[in-house]
Amino acid sequence: MSTSAEQSAPESVDEPPVITFRDLGLGEQVLKALSDVGYETPSAIQAATIPTLLEGRDVVGLAQTGTGKTAAFALPILDRLDLAQKTPQALVLAPTRELALQVCEAFEKYAARTKGVHVLPVYGGQGYGVQLSALRRGVHVIVGTPGRIMDHLDKGTLDLSELKYLVLDEADEMLKMGFAEDVETILADTPDTKQVALFSATMPAAIRRMSKQYLNDPEEITVASKTTTSSTITQRYLIVSFQQKIDALTRILEVENFEAMIVFARTKSATEEVAEKLRARGYSAAAINGDVAQVQRERTVNQLKSGKLDILVATDVAARGLDVERISHVVNFDISTDTESYVHRIGRTGRAGRTGDAISFVTPRERGLVNAIERATRQPLTQMQLPSVDEVNVTRLSRFDDRITAALEETERVERFRDIIAHYVRHHDVPEVDVAAALAVVAQGETPLLLEPDPEPRARAPRDDRAPRTFDRDDRDGRPERRPRGSNPNMTTYRIAVGKRHRVEPRQIVGALANEGGLSRGDFGAIQIRPDFSLVELPSDMPQSTLDRLSDTRISGKAIEIRVDTGGPGRRPRDRDDRGGSDRFGGRDRDDRGSRDDRDDRPARKPRHRADHD
Ligand code: AMP
Repeated sequence: MSTSAEQSAPESVDEPPVITFRDLGLGEQVLKALSDVGYETPSAIQAATIPTLLEGRDVVGLAQTGTGKTAAFALPILDRLDLAQKTPQALVLAPTRELALQVCEAFEKYAARTKGVHVLPVYGGQGYGVQLSALRRGVHVIVGTPGRIMDHLDKGTLDLSELKYLVLDEADEMLKMGFAEDVETILADTPDTKQVALFSATMPAAIRRMSKQYLNDPEEITVASKTTTSSTITQRYLIVSFQQKIDALTRILEVENFEAMIVFARTKSATEEVAEKLRARGYSAAAINGDVAQVQRERTVNQLKSGKLDILVATDVAARGLDVERISHVVNFDISTDTESYVHRIGRTGRAGRTGDAISFVTPRERGLVNAIERATRQPLTQMQLPSVDEVNVTRLSRFDDRITAALEETERVERFRDIIAHYVRHHDVPEVDVAAALAVVAQGETPLLLEPDPEPRARAPRDDRAPRTFDRDDRDGRPERRPRGSNPNMTTYRIAVGKRHRVEPRQIVGALANEGGLSRGDFGAIQIRPDFSLVELPSDMPQSTLDRLSDTRISGKAIEIRVDTGGPGRRPRDRDDRGGSDRFGGRDRDDRGSRDDRDDRPARKPRHRADHD
């Protein structure tokens, strides 16, 4: 592992000194592999566990997925393997086949520079044949689920008589899944001399008892953070799959009102990749990591300070001590492996008395880290949703409007075109608004102004509900047949002509409709606020008199024009330039969630202070 990068990293007084993998006592081959995978520094659990395991002591580690616990036990094992030994030396027990495979992959990754290491996954559901022939050839490390390991022991096909290292990964999960007895049998039937490392996210009494009985004076390692975060930083998280991360980041960049941003990634290569993808989408982004020379790093940071650059994609080490007032947002593209580094990361925003925003991407497996961070920082993290297509489009329209306003302010230049446009209008007998729209087409080029709606989710309504509608969808005066559109057959979805652009919130809608229509809160079903309109579920059996009263309702001064939502585009011919009218997006009655490939949309850089639109 190269350490020069860490040594030259800028330090600040409020941060502990950087510990390197080399400091932990690991050998050259493992260090080289770590350098290949791009880890710069050990996570907290690694820094605490690796030296203890290398010393030969047993360990009980309180750690969740996402903290780097796999490397914490895998590295010391790999470092001490005797490749000449044919019988298994290390056994890792994991609760599920997925985790077992993941741990196997991790071992293989860290063993890439050590020739001849054999790692074997052993789990139920896989044929015995593959496992048996591999066992016969000889393996050094076995990663398996307790049930299948027990089967092999019962059959006499697995010889653990010379086992040196036993790891119980996610011990609490193994107990929850009913493996307590198997785990205890394996612990009892393997050599007393083995070293045991037990990792668990929680420490129920059963695990305490097990560790007392089967572990030899273990060192207990809990990675707790003493640091706290500033309350001027708003902390949010987004549950997102690994594959969705780039699209999620792009959407966040579009809708968040940011000035400058640091995006944290776990590895050097990830910083390069993310920065590259952002540049390809039109953002000014650069990567800094331990491999980037100090001079270049300083240059990049200065660009961020001066506003030439808006997004810095960094590893923890490269961003240490960074103090740039413009940073309004920190995005943890990969969530920190420990709470202390989380606190340091988000401390890059909210500097000099400003407020800041921190958004963390959390994969479903890493959910547990959110609680750990909340406990350590003693501050709540709010879950956010992936910005919807509508939200993205609202900001795009708002920016489009800003550009028109800014251009109109250049009075002299506008003046020069006035006569030309007037001449065109006279000679071609075309409305001015159409000419303006045509010029917008020219200005916009091939890039679509708005995102397309996400693919429609499969209908959830029962079959009977999909019968064609019988009423005239523009019939607002007569009483249309009301029928449910949503999942609740007793509710009907109504459309009202106020939406995000009118700054309405669900509570205003409930308040206004309840007051005018004499409804109670319990009468309301789901409320969805769309850019130019909203959808409100109300009881299907509402009397006509209530509907009549509701039709006179105004919210924020605007008539709500309540009508049954038909789910169609609802675009009326004269709606074209009616800003406050319904359906500016032409029927975006869809669930916006889910991923979509918007790679070709290249938004312009977004100013932090958008002019208010309406
Ligand atoms: P784990 O908690 O073992 O599931 O690890 C969570 C993630 O952190 C995995 O994707 C690892 O590849 C990554 N990781 C582990 N240790 C480090 C480190 N020291 N630096 C950067 N990433 C790491």
